[in-house]
Amino acid sequence: MDNDKKAYIHSVETGGTVDGPGIRYVIFFQMCPLRCKFCHNPDTWQLQPDKIKTEEELFNEIMKYKDFFALSNGGVTVSGGEPLLQAKFILNLFKKLKKENIHTAADTCGYIEVDEIIKELFAYTDLFLLDIKHLDSPKHLELTGKDNKKVLKFLQALKEHNKKTWIRQVLLPEWTMDESYINHLINYLKDYKNIIEKIELLPYHEMGKEKWTKLGLKYTLTTKPPKKEALFDIKTMFEKNGFDVLLSV
Ligand code: SF4
Repeated sequence: MDNDKKAYIHSVETGGTVDGPGIRYVIFFQMCPLRCKFCHNPDTWQLQPDKIKTEEELFNEIMKYKDFFALSNGGVTVSGGEPLLQAKFILNLFKKLKKENIHTAADTCGYIEVDEIIKELFAYTDLFLLDIKHLDSPKHLELTGKDNKKVLKFLQALKEHNKKTWIRQVLLPEWTMDESYINHLINYLKDYKNIIEKIELLPYHEMGKEKWTKLGLKYTLTTKPPKKEALFDIKTMFEKNGFDVLLSV
C-alpha cells in the first residue's frame, strides 16, 4: 500500500497469550510470501482490499488495553500472514507504541529482505518470533514453496542487531521430528544462543484443514499430528543443550 498510515489487516485478537509474553493485542496482517502445506491461516493469503485499518484507528484501539499490558508484562504482536510485508506501517505504529512504553513483538516467517526499513524496525521491536519451517533448503521449498536462504539471512540479521528472539518450530512428523533433524537444528541454533530467549515447539495440528476446504484449496498434507511422548523427547533434547523450551500440548 502506498500510504504507510494504512494497512491491510485480516483481523485482531485482544486477549492473546501465545504470541509473546503476557497478555497481547495481536494484529494479523494480510498476505504472505509462503504457502506452507500446514498453514492454519490460508485466509490471510489473498488480499482483501476492503479490510483496511488506519494507524490512528489501531493505535487508539490498542491504548484501551494499556493497563492489561502493564499488569501482565504483555504488549502488541504483529502476526499474519506475514506482517513484515507491510513493514513501513508497522514501523510507524511501533514508534508510537514505544513512546508509550508498550512492548512490541513481530511474528515472522523471515522470508523478508533486510532493507533499511527493516533495519530501522529492529530498533523499535523488542522481540522477534521467527518461524523456522525447515532447516534443509530443498525441504523448505517443498513445504512452503520457497527455499530458506532469506529466512536464514534474516536470522543472521537478528544476531547482528542483537535482537531478542523466540525460534518457532512446527513439529511435523516425517518432516521435522526425527532425531537427526532435531540435532541438526540444535547445532545450527547454538551459534545464535546469545539472542535466542526461547525455543517454541508447535505440534502440528489439522485445525486449519477446514479453512482450506472452505476456500476451495486442496490440502495435500497427509501427515498425522504427532504423538505426545515424541514431543517431550524433543523438548528434552533442546533442554539438554541449554535452551529454554516452550511446548504447547
Ligand atoms: S508463513 Fe504462516 S501464514 Fe504464511 S503460509 Fe506459512 S503458516 Fe501460513
